[in-house]
Amino acid sequence: MESIYNMTFDKLNIYFHDLGEKSYRTRQLFDWLYIKRIKSFKEITNMKKEVIERLEKDFYFDALEIKAKEEAPLVIKYLLKFKDNNTIEAVLMKHDYGNSLCISSEVGCNMACSFCESGRIKKIRNVTSGEMVLQILKIEEDLKLRISHVVIMGIGEPFDNYDNVCNFVEIVNNNYGINIGSRHITISTCGIVPKIYEFSKFPYQVNLAISLHAPNETLRSKLMPINKVYNLDSLMEAIKSYLKENNRRVTFEYIMLNEVNDTEELALELANLIKGMNAYVNLIPYNETNNIGYKRSSKERIMKFYDTLKKNNVNVTIRREFGGNISAACGQLKTVKEAP
Ligand code: SAH
Repeated sequence: MESIYNMTFDKLNIYFHDLGEKSYRTRQLFDWLYIKRIKSFKEITNMKKEVIERLEKDFYFDALEIKAKEEAPLVIKYLLKFKDNNTIEAVLMKHDYGNSLCISSEVGCNMACSFCESGRIKKIRNVTSGEMVLQILKIEEDLKLRISHVVIMGIGEPFDNYDNVCNFVEIVNNNYGINIGSRHITISTCGIVPKIYEFSKFPYQVNLAISLHAPNETLRSKLMPINKVYNLDSLMEAIKSYLKENNRRVTFEYIMLNEVNDTEELALELANLIKGMNAYVNLIPYNETNNIGYKRSSKERIMKFYDTLKKNNVNVTIRREFGGNISAACGQLKTVKEAP
């Protein structure tokens, strides 16, 4: 048995075709699942009994439970529990352009970035595509609103769970279903180089963000162990190849760690590193966490870094802050271990 929410439109087409059913069955089923939001195949009224029984045999309705919910102005953090009792977090942010949901792609994370809370618990398992879909369905249902944007920036490294993440994009982008525009979906990676090449060929115009955080090998290796596997040089090459292949812009995320990566020399090095690329830099004020030594750069240091980049023709923005007071911000999300 498979979760029905794991099924892409194309896979369901094949499924119905194999049953000898017309292809419009897929559209009908997507409508029941994602427009009408049924919770059981019994609710379907426009398919023959035999088809419904067959669906019941082959698929189940996976579900998520809301274990906790914390609210601050414009942001709501959810602790969500899967059927196997593993938990993850998702964060809803209300922007003026719509509602954006930050979802988790893995239970735990193996990337072990030194500044990030999410990696404190090693990866337990992948989040399935259906469970990513359910993060949207559950929170839309809970808040009675429509999510217009999705960022895969919660717990986990999306390119360490590549196939599920791509399937997820296919499912939520489909215009018979949840219909979130591909340009409203952002995948953020710490730099799994082979997957960046693979992603260059992915036929959906999804935004790509790269967690850069340092403009040279030594510093990046110190902050992010992944740099010892795929170094900065190979990462930049992969991104250039991605940009050549796609007519898209990439975002470089750069957290501002006080007196670690926020000096003027490093700003110049960063400007030089990305010179001529169709890219922009998003400076992220570091969210301090309980158990780590890093401090957030002062406003002055952030502004100076920003100005240096600007002067050197880098497109740069400073990320608006969300959810710091409820530990819902970048790098503060974590899997909690609990007895079932
Ligand atoms: N693994 C992916 C997805 C997580 S995205 C990735 O690394 O891109 C989470 C973003 O928040 C990343 O850019 C991450 O580096 C950043 N981040 C981690 N800890 C943070 C913290 N304490 N404050 C601010 N940003 C943080």
